[in-house]
Amino acid sequence: MTSTVLVLNSGSSSLKYQLVDPSSGEALASGLIERIGEESGRVKHQSGGSTVEREQPVPSHADALKVALGLFDEAGPSLAGAGVAAVGHRVVHGGALFSAPVLLDDDAVAGIRSLIPLAPLHNPANVTGIEVARELLDVPHVAVFDTAFFATLPPAAATYAVDRKVAEEHGVRRYGFHGTSHQFVSAAVAAHPDVQALGRSPLRQVVLHLGNGASASAVLDGVAVETSMGLTPLEGLVMGTRSGDLDPAIVFHLVRNAGMSVDDVDTLLNKSSGLKGLAGVNDMRELQRLVASGDEAARLAMDVYLHRLRKYVGAYAAALGGIDVLTFTAGVGENDARVRAGVVQGLGFLGLEVDPARNEAPSREARVISPTGTGALVMVVPTDEELAIARQAMELVSR
Ligand code: ADP
Repeated sequence: MTSTVLVLNSGSSSLKYQLVDPSSGEALASGLIERIGEESGRVKHQSGGSTVEREQPVPSHADALKVALGLFDEAGPSLAGAGVAAVGHRVVHGGALFSAPVLLDDDAVAGIRSLIPLAPLHNPANVTGIEVARELLDVPHVAVFDTAFFATLPPAAATYAVDRKVAEEHGVRRYGFHGTSHQFVSAAVAAHPDVQALGRSPLRQVVLHLGNGASASAVLDGVAVETSMGLTPLEGLVMGTRSGDLDPAIVFHLVRNAGMSVDDVDTLLNKSSGLKGLAGVNDMRELQRLVASGDEAARLAMDVYLHRLRKYVGAYAAALGGIDVLTFTAGVGENDARVRAGVVQGLGFLGLEVDPARNEAPSREARVISPTGTGALVMVVPTDEELAIARQAMELVSR
């Protein structure tokens, strides 16, 4: 019996995994191994209502995967009994090489490695995770790319207005990220009974994936036509620690006048900007606590965050020729009713409104939070990137 997929997400110092049954959508086990390569690693494995948590040294990614496989033996479920049909790897950057999931052979791994200059923060760890897993797990391995859903961006949306020769030679264009989530959520929206009842064709959707990283997409009849992240995940919305959009001349200014190197500016804009740079915290729950306590820096951070979001919704409504559904997803989008209300405030001219009782009712389900009878729907739809990766991997190996 082959019925499950082991989904792996390898970061620079962490390994996240989930054993998924793609047909039922059930996660049979999940785990996180952090602080790989540090003095003491942190290990967490959850299955069937029980949790194993401990600290132990995890010197390398190979060790991390061995630890994870050991946890399946120790705490279950047994991988041998789970019928693992494939391993699905989350890969951040597919560049112009990969616009769909791919079966991982040596050539495909070399292709992912060749994209490291485009994604120096992410692809190296993804490649290491793939190499280690291919050695230890003798089943088909599939890469699912964060960029793939946005391979359909029209040239007008994907092209930066820079010298064409330079852009072509160095792969400078907009790729987009979080594609697995935007694809999963926009498909769930289109299939929702309340959206079907709306009967709009073509269906014009804007999806806001608001987690620690954050991105917006415009989706026309299931096809992505705009997204806020670009060559890298730095462009677009204000994020936990990333600045999102800014004048590129800020980089020259800091290099010339602040004594910063290019790497310093890279770290500044990716790791200590966004909400963290403005308010000192990158976690939305902490930011909300600071706002409630009257902290002025936190209030400004929230205002900048919401202003950017409203601008994007308006711009995407223009790109789509109108909007039928606006959807919130990921950690902040699924849980923070104040952020949702703040984004939609003032967007009544697009037919967008939030019903306070619906917005504030706690729920884990896909749901409509706009009042009955408005011109467009506002929804909350939980994302599930692991399930989406598992389904795509299973689909590829079952062909
Ligand atoms: P990522 O996958 O990008 O790390 P997530 O989608 O898990 O991020 O989202 C993390 C963000 O979600 C954090 O900023 C966290 O504060 C926020 N978040 C989680 N739960 C809540 C909540 N109940 N209210 C507000 N924000 C929340």
